[in-house]
Amino acid sequence: MTVNRRFLLARRPVGTPVSDDFSLVEQAVPEAPKGGFVVRNCYASLDPAQRGWMDDAPSYMPPIPLGDPVRATTVGVVAASDSPDFAVGDWVLGLNGLEDYSVNHAGGFTMKVDPSIVDSPSRFLSAMGAVGLTAYFGLTDVAKPQPGETLLVSGAAGAVGSAVGQIGKIMGARVIGIAGGAEKCRRLTEDYGFDVSIDYKGKSVDALAAEIREAAPDGVNVIFENVGGDVFDAELLNLAKHARIVLCGLISEYNSPTKIGARNLWSVLTNQATLYGYLIMDYAPRFAEGGAVMAEWMAQGKLRIDEDVQEGLENAYAIFMRLFTGANTGKLVLKIADGL
Ligand code: NDP
Repeated sequence: MTVNRRFLLARRPVGTPVSDDFSLVEQAVPEAPKGGFVVRNCYASLDPAQRGWMDDAPSYMPPIPLGDPVRATTVGVVAASDSPDFAVGDWVLGLNGLEDYSVNHAGGFTMKVDPSIVDSPSRFLSAMGAVGLTAYFGLTDVAKPQPGETLLVSGAAGAVGSAVGQIGKIMGARVIGIAGGAEKCRRLTEDYGFDVSIDYKGKSVDALAAEIREAAPDGVNVIFENVGGDVFDAELLNLAKHARIVLCGLISEYNSPTKIGARNLWSVLTNQATLYGYLIMDYAPRFAEGGAVMAEWMAQGKLRIDEDVQEGLENAYAIFMRLFTGANTGKLVLKIADGL
C-alpha cells in the first residue's frame, strides 16, 4: 500500500459523537523514524474510554489533539524499521491510532506478541489484552470476592463485564449480571454461567433496585461497576455491610454533557462500604502474569471471551457507536487489514 488512511478527530464531540466530528484522510505511508519503526495496524481496540479521550477535560491521559488520529490500542506488523529491537514482519501490540500505519518512536510503549499462540491476533486486544485483564485484576487483586459472597456486575454482557462474571464464578461467588435486553440476559446465564441476569432497560431506579433485592435479599458484597447513572443508583440501594465497589467505568455518562452522578452515596456511608477508583494501567507490569492465567482458564473451558470483530477503517465511526447503542456482542474490535 502507498496510502495511509487516517481516522482523525476533527472536532470535539458534544454529547453523543456524530460522524462530522471525525474525518478520514489519506496521506503518504510514513517512513521509519531514526531508531523507531512503522506498524501496519491490523486490528484496533474500540473502547468506551476513547470517548473520554475526545473531550478536552482532565483525565488519566491527555486529550486526543484535534487533527490527530483517534488514539487506539492496535495489534499489527512492523512494516519498516530503523530499530535494533523490532524487525520488519514482527507482530506488535501498542498504543497507536485508527490508521493504516502508525509511527513508533524509539522508547515508546510497544511490545512484541506471538500470533502463533492464538487463533487470531485480535485476541491480544480481548482475552490477552487490557480488557480481559481489567476483569482479572479488578477481581483477583481489588475486590477479592470470597466463596459464597454475592457479586453484582453491570454492563455484564460486554467485554469486561462478561469476563468479570465468569471469573467471579471461578472464585466461588454467586454472580448477578445487569445488561440491556432479553437476548443479552439469556447469554449471561446460558453462555457465561451467571446465576441471575437482570434487564435494566426501561426500568426506574426503584424498580431495578427491587429486582436486585429479590436476587440478593441479604445485599451485595461486591459491585463491579461499568455503567453508572441510574443503574449504579439502584445497585447502591442493595449494599451489604462492608461491601466493596470497584468503580471501573461509567459508560451511561460518557455522552452526557451534564454528568448524572450517583445520588445514593449515603448507602456507601451507612453500610461502611469501600469505593475504589480502578485503572487497569496500574497493572501493566503484571500483564504477562494475568494473561497466563486467563489463557489457562480458556484452555480449560472455564472462560469464554467473545469478540465482535467489524471490518473497515472507513466504517470506524459507525462501528465505534456500537458501544453506545449496545449493539456489540463481546469485545469490539475494528479489523483494518490481515497483515503486511
Ligand atoms: P462493552 O463491551 O461493555 O460495551 C459497552 C456496553 O455498555 C454496551 O454494549 C451496552 O450494553 C452498555 N451501555 C452503553 N451505553 C449504556 C447506557 N447508557 N446505559 C447502560 N449501559 C450502556 O465495553 P467494555 O467492556 O470495553 O467497557 C465496559 C466498561 O469498562 C466501560 O465503562 C469502560 O469505560 C470500562 N473500562 C474501564 C477500564 C479501567 O481501567 N477502569 C478498562 C476497560 C474498560 P447493554 O446493551 O447491556 O446496555
